Amino acid sequence: MTQLKVVFLGAPGAGKGTQAKMLCEKYGLPHISTGDILRNAVKKGTPLGVQAEVIMDRGDLVPDELVLGIIRERLAEPDCSPGFVLDGFPRTIAQAEGFDSICSVNCALQIDVPRDILVKRVVRRRTCPQCGSMYHLDYKIPEKDNLCDHCGAALAQRDDDKEEVVESRLAVYEEKTAPLVAYYNGKGVLHRIDGDRDMNLVFAEVTSIVDRTGEMNGQR
Ligand code: AMP
Repeated sequence: MTQLKVVFLGAPGAGKGTQAKMLCEKYGLPHISTGDILRNAVKKGTPLGVQAEVIMDRGDLVPDELVLGIIRERLAEPDCSPGFVLDGFPRTIAQAEGFDSICSVNCALQIDVPRDILVKRVVRRRTCPQCGSMYHLDYKIPEKDNLCDHCGAALAQRDDDKEEVVESRLAVYEEKTAPLVAYYNGKGVLHRIDGDRDMNLVFAEVTSIVDRTGEMNGQR
């Protein structure tokens, strides 16, 4: 059976993570976020984490080979056999090309959000350091002030969500990741989605595109 291999593209704050998680829940697919895998490695202090931490803190990209290694290992796990949803990978043309030699993406979803809105979204984002749940001081406020609804841990701002780092992450996105839109368009798998809307409206469009992709691949 053809796998559903979905990639989310979009700048930091576009809502990739939120949409990817909702999609995985709906279709029972694994959510693979290279950012989450790297943050976990940093938390555990593994050699990968030690190498990645300084790079992540300044908003740069970790080396392509390292990320490709992470992806190769993760995709070999059995839960990926029906397909997967990638969030935050690939982020460079070299990663996309490397990935093409492992498998081919059949749906690339580009979430478009204007730059001024991206900055506001990211700097007011809060994350649970314990379970990874995401909150926002305006759109997704925790029930108890600054505490995670799921595990009760104190929420924090990611170091790379601070305003000065966000600007450099957006510049890195424009330079290194935005060219992937043309890359996947050339492969005939790109779909552009207006991400400056209520997340449920965005999700309705995401699922309709993914359903069509599944039908074309004889899946659903
Ligand atoms: P994210 O959670 O996707 O915003 O990723 C947080 C940080 O992890 C990024 O700013 C990069 O430093 C690093 N990172 C995540 N995914 C990748 C990737 N595919 N390539 C290089 N660096 C990455």
